[in-house]
Parts: sequence; structure tokens; C-alpha cells
Amino acid sequence: MVHPSGFFEDMSAHRAPKPAFGLSVDGWTVRVAALSSMEGQGPLQKVLHEASLYPVYQPIVNLGDATVHAHEALIRGPRGSPLHTPDALLRAAAHEGLGFAFEYACLAATLRSWGQMDVPGRLFVNISAAVLKQLITSQGADALLKLIGDLGILSRMLVLEITEHERVDDMDSLADVVAQVRSAGVSLALDDFGDGRSSLRLWSQLKPEVVKIDKYFTKDISQHGDKLKTIQALLQIADIFDTSLVAEGIETKEDLRVLRDLGISYGQGYFLGHPNPEPVQYLGTDAKRVLGERQIVVFPELSRATPNGQLRNIALIDAPTVSADTSNDELAACFAEWPSLHAVAVLDREQPVALINRAQFMNEYSKLYYREVWGRKPCVAHANFQPRLIERDHSVDDLVGILTSEDQRYLSDGFIVTENGRYVGLGTGNQLVRSVTETRIEAARHANPLTFLPGNIPISQHMDRLIKKKVRFAACYADLNNFKPFNDYYGYWRGDEMIRLLARLAMEQCDPQRDFLGHVGGDDFMLLFQSPDWRTRSENLVQAFNTQAVGLFDEAAKAAGGIEAEDRHGLLRFFPFTTVSVGAVVIDGGRFARAEEVANLAALAKHDAKRAGTGLFERAV
Ligand code: C2E
Ligand code: MG
Ligand code: MG
Repeated sequence: MVHPSGFFEDMSAHRAPKPAFGLSVDGWTVRVAALSSMEGQGPLQKVLHEASLYPVYQPIVNLGDATVHAHEALIRGPRGSPLHTPDALLRAAAHEGLGFAFEYACLAATLRSWGQMDVPGRLFVNISAAVLKQLITSQGADALLKLIGDLGILSRMLVLEITEHERVDDMDSLADVVAQVRSAGVSLALDDFGDGRSSLRLWSQLKPEVVKIDKYFTKDISQHGDKLKTIQALLQIADIFDTSLVAEGIETKEDLRVLRDLGISYGQGYFLGHPNPEPVQYLGTDAKRVLGERQIVVFPELSRATPNGQLRNIALIDAPTVSADTSNDELAACFAEWPSLHAVAVLDREQPVALINRAQFMNEYSKLYYREVWGRKPCVAHANFQPRLIERDHSVDDLVGILTSEDQRYLSDGFIVTENGRYVGLGTGNQLVRSVTETRIEAARHANPLTFLPGNIPISQHMDRLIKKKVRFAACYADLNNFKPFNDYYGYWRGDEMIRLLARLAMEQCDPQRDFLGHVGGDDFMLLFQSPDWRTRSENLVQAFNTQAVGLFDEAAKAAGGIEAEDRHGLLRFFPFTTVSVGAVVIDGGRFARAEEVANLAALAKHDAKRAGTGLFERAV
């Protein structure tokens, strides 16, 4: 059916007014000339005809006081139809050339629905930058004012969320339109900030009252230090421009805790409330509980995760390989052809089974009569059948394990690099040492290079956050006993292993959302527990460490119960196994003003604990 007079006029002429189009407000009857020439009806055109668009409402929550601050209206097409979701509707609108008519219909349906309800708080409505421009330039902001007024909505309760702002090519004219909208008392929000090409310039030029941060940045923020830092930067910009931020897409309590503690004013997402035809007045109990918590969450560190894939940065040696039946003469010829090759791998099909060291092989091969007697025999007689195999995605920790192991042949033989168990090339011991060192230097910029745990600066920052929120927490200072003689006796690589053992066991005793573990330096660690059972956790740490540390001593020491080593005065004496002492102070919310005071108390508690021997010692404050 073709409607010669245009879509909207046709609606009022032939049908009883339906909600979306029953707006008989002068100046707001939209003529969509393009429609009159359309042959037949597309699926969206039909939806518009039937006025079957309706909004659902999702709460926007004040994260400070856990109240429902506003609702965002999200449009829906007929339930159970292919045009139910906004994405499908928007695609159909583009396909059928109905962009403007569709968005106008959404706005009208939403405002009408909201006007009929008596819901406190503001209403956020989506509109694309292009349609907003078209609407205001053709009809003027006064018409918008009259429309919302006639529907019983106060202009100051309306916020237009500008979507698809990345498509704006003429920013100055959009700024003009925005100024007109604002003079009508309506507020502006930038939607999905950070998505696509949405620009900082738009934020700076339009000065929206609200910026909604795209869900990309909130999803799993509790695990990603980089997302957290991005939001912190956005908070600073918001402060400069005096903008309120809304974090979109909050789906879990873990993410909500981080956003709450960052001081984001408002949040939206399934965890706070799903889109619903009925607006809600109050927050659900789960969300309320999280927002009412008296504790703070541990922020994710940028460098907490051990970097993987270090070998990807190492230039592999694309070396020839031999098989088990390659002869000594053939191998010698191969080494002659590749003068700088330090070793070759012996493969069984694609699987490396052994490594032959060039120097060792040539040493034998050049002996008198060797060629005559052994030349045609298989070269594997010289192979090391336990070569170092390293997968390309090895973590740095694993690589460090190789550097600290007793088998130091990797220094002369190098190692074989594999991918899913298949040979891909050779590496040298030098490269391995360099790669680990470089990774540690990089990590040192953010955290302790040995354990990748947060260092002194983040420890103080976390303490400050605890003090500011007046939270009750236990500051536990852990330190090793008889560590120096162990380190002197077995070397610092093995000493590092002992420190990493303490780090790993301490981490196991922490609730990752509540308890913070920092590495002060050397064998000193700081645990900041909010978990009420911190005593049990500390005792578990002491017990686990004291048991497992014995494993780092050699058999003779294990039998003797310790080692003979020099003391501080250079005198040989017996030192029992290394153990850990934990000095604790319980800080009751609000008693201290600075992290330094707490750190000093914890250090005193550590001294008490060491004097008392091994184990946990609590110092009264
Ligand atoms: P938007 O304005 O960014 O709306 C938020 C979208 O995220 C909504 O999808 C909402 O249901 C969804 N959402 C809310 N909480 C969560 C969450 O925790 N996790 C995830 N993954 N998603 C969440 P919806 O309703 O499908 O809308 C999609 C987009 O369609 C909107 O994105 C908006 O750009 C557009 N849209 C919706 N209604 C209208 C309208 O009336 N007019 C116009 N022009 N565009 C609209
Ligand atoms: Mg939106
Ligand atoms: Mg959005």
C-alpha cells in the first residue's frame, strides 16, 4: 500500500491515534517526504504504522548513596519479532531509509510513555547526533520544549543521550544545536564514550552534563589495571569539565566494587538492574549490599600478571636439524657449513629428542682416527637426551626457574624452542639471561621485579585508601628468619626462589578482593587484611612456609636440620632452616591519618615478632 500524502499524515487520517504517533503538537508533525515515494511497506515501516514501538527502562544508580537516580529508555519493537531489539530496528531503519522517522518515533513513544507514568528522577533518552541536528534545525528547540511540556515532563528532568556522535562531521553546528537544547533546560549526555572514534574534542566542545563510559572499560575492570587507569584518567578530565560520569555495563559485584571505590558517581548495568517495562524505584538487595559495604576493594595492579610469551621477543636461530640416524661425518659437515651454530637438535619427526653441543662433538671428532672408526656411525652417541625444551609461551617465572636450576648446561648447550611440542628453533643461554633481565627491568617500573607484586608506592596508596574509608584492617609485616645465611650459602638465585615461595604462599592466603599483598623489598612483605579471619590466614602462611622452605635445602642440610654458614661477624656457626615471622597491628578505622604511621607500627610489630621467634605476633596499639 502506498500512501501518497506521507507516512505520518496517513497515520492521523486513517487510524485512531496510537501512542507513538498520537502527538498532535503543532510543528511536530513530521513529514517524511521520502516515504511517500516508497513502493510497498518494509518491515520497519509496518512497525511504525502499527505504532508498536515501546520503551523499556533501565535504572541509572547513584553509587554514592545507592538510590535510583534516573532511568534510561531503551526502545523495543514487537516482542518475538525479528525487530525486537534496537540493533535490529536501527539496521532496518538504515536499510529502509527511515532513520529520521524511526528515531522520531522512538522519542515520541518514549516521552509519551514516561509522561503517563509518575516516576521520580530523570529520564535519559537516546538520540543520534544527526537526528538531533535535523530535528532542532527544522523544528527549533521551542517545539521540543512544548512537546515535553504537553506530555507533562519537566525539561530539567530530561537528558538527551547523544549516540553515534563519532559520525559528526560538522562539530560547530552540533555545538549550536546543543546550545539551543540546553537553553530549553534539557541536559546532554555523550553516550558510549571511548567506543569507536568518540572524541575528547567533542567532550571539551559540547561540555555535556553527563558522559557515559562505554562498557568496554567497565567489563572486568576488577582484573585489568589498564582499564582502571583509564577510568582514573577519565575522572580527572570529568573533574576539569565538571561532568558527571556514568559507568555503563556493570555486570558483576567485583566490577561494581572497583567503580564504587574509584568514586564514579553513577552506574548502570545488569547487576544494578535490567531494562524493564516498569521503571524501578529501589535498588535490588545484592547491589544495595555491595554499595553499602564498609570495606574497600583491592585495585588490580597494572603489572600483577606475570608477562607471558617472552620468547616471542627473542630472535630464534633457524638452525638445521638432524635425525637419530644422521652419521658423525654428516653432522661434522653440517657444523662446517654453519660455523656459528652452537648446537643442533635431534628430531624424531617434528619432536625434539636430544641436543648435540658443537664444541663437545668437534672435540671428539677431531681426535686421531676418530673419523675412520666412528665417521659413519650415528651421531646420537654424543647427544644430550635431556635438553632444555622451552615452549614459546613460557612465563618469566618458568624461565627464571631454569636460570636457578642446578642443571646449568643451558649456558653451553642453549635450549630448544617448541610450539605445542613441535620444534621451531634454537636459543642460546645468553639470550635467555638477557630476556629475563629485560623483563625484570620493565616490571621494576611498576612493581617488585622479583615477584611482580606491588611495591612501596602502591602499598602506601592502598593503606591511604583504607585509612580514608576508616576501615578496620590488620597490617601484617612478614620477614624471614635465617635468610641471609641461606642466601650466602646457596647463592642469590636460590635465595630468590625462597622469596618467591613466600610471595606465592602469602598470595594464597589473601582474598583477592579484600586483602592486599605488597613486596616492600628483599624478604619483607606487607599484608593488609580486611578479612576478619586474618589471624588464621597468617598462621596458615607461617605453617605452610616453614614446611615448604625446607624443600629448598639440600639433602645434607635436611638431615642436619640446617646449614653451617658465616654469621654477621664472619664466624662459622649453625643456622636452622629458614622460617617466617609475621608482626601484626590491627588498625581501627579512623585512628590514624597517614599511611606512614601505620607502616611504622607494622615495622615495630615485625621486630617484636622476630624477637619472639618464629610465627605470628600481634602488637597492641
Ligand atoms: P546504549 O544507549 O549504550 O544502551 C545500553 C545498552 O546496553 C542497552 O542495549 C542495554 O540493554 C545494554 N546493557 C545494559 N546493561 C548492560 C550490561 O550490564 N551488560 C551489557 N552487555 N549490556 C548492557 P539495547 O537496549 O540493546 O540498546 C542498544 C543500543 O541501541 C543503545 O545503546 C542505543 O545506542 C540504541 N538505542 C536504544 N534505544 C534507542 C532509542 O530510543 N533511540 C535511539 N536513537 N537509539 C536507541
Ligand atoms: Mg544510551
Ligand atoms: Mg551507552
